Amino acid sequence: MGSAKQKRRKKLARAWIEFQTQHELSDDDLKLARSTGYTIAAMQEKLSDADFAEEVSIPARIREIHRRQNEKLAARREAIASGEILPPAKKKQKKAEKHDPQWAQAKQLCQLNMDDIRKAKEMGLNPRSLIKNIPSPTQSWKTPVKYWIRDMYEERERRSASKASHGETASKQPARTTHDSIVKSWEANGKRNDEENYDFLRSLKCTEYDFEPDELAHELHEQAFDVIDCTRCANCCKTLKIRFDAADIERISQHLEMSSEHFIATYLEPGDEPGSFNTRQFPCPFLAEDNRCTIYEIRPTVCQDYPYTNKDGLVFRTMGVANSALTCPAVFWIVEEMKKHANE
Ligand code: SF4
Ligand code: SF4
Repeated sequence: MGSAKQKRRKKLARAWIEFQTQHELSDDDLKLARSTGYTIAAMQEKLSDADFAEEVSIPARIREIHRRQNEKLAARREAIASGEILPPAKKKQKKAEKHDPQWAQAKQLCQLNMDDIRKAKEMGLNPRSLIKNIPSPTQSWKTPVKYWIRDMYEERERRSASKASHGETASKQPARTTHDSIVKSWEANGKRNDEENYDFLRSLKCTEYDFEPDELAHELHEQAFDVIDCTRCANCCKTLKIRFDAADIERISQHLEMSSEHFIATYLEPGDEPGSFNTRQFPCPFLAEDNRCTIYEIRPTVCQDYPYTNKDGLVFRTMGVANSALTCPAVFWIVEEMKKHANE
């Protein structure tokens, strides 16, 4: 767990608690408000919408906002399916290509030339993350941004060339993507790109990109797990505390011929939600030395669904996806590929 991630999560949780207190909301109302995916500022604005009659309570307004949001999302999906909302996305793209003040600022502050910028864009880097990585006067050990862009690009070219010489197609992403390339890229850039990835994922809620987030994520999920070998990674099983619900406990304890009580006492501790439990330690006690799950066929539901990138509603789970990109190389790759599509 990166400290940036923890700080961000705490700050956001505090802000939502203040919001709950301010409006005297129940936990369910708060959950509903958060599930809309709006920021607190956007939610405050929507709550004071003139559409609402004065006597409509805040919880009722939240329910209505939630209903409208679902309607909007369904309409957007239909419009994308029928090809209706592609033209506005293309217009935005043109504008961004014309002049981008953030890239201009990055160019100046990081002392980049146009070739550096081209390379950074090709690699899906974000100008804000470049600026954030400018070494401070006390960080003489840190490589200046322009040099690591050049190094990273050179390494990327070298890998493509080496694959081409082995008869592989270097220009197509699926052909040059391997388990090792995904894991190496995640190791090198996972933490560094965390803030940028979180910002990008948040932008999916309010920016009209030339793709539908769930569709693209599902496609990339298939590509990633075609090449990723989870038994060579098992990072999720090694670093996350796994949630077991009542059905998981019953199924797995029966399989192990233990009573539910004995199973809980042996492996689990109470979770955040009433009636839920988490593994008490990591690595997960059911992970074998060869990285295989010893209860794979009957593993907990969360393990079956992880990392959720093939599930609908990605735009409503932006923080979860950003956090998973720190844990799971496949999720990191999926987010990086989505950024490339956004920059195309
Ligand atoms: S962290 Fe991701 S890639 Fe690694 S084992 Fe888990 S699901 Fe597979
Ligand atoms: S139950 Fe199996 S799949 Fe789930 S975390 Fe443990 S070892 Fe991994």
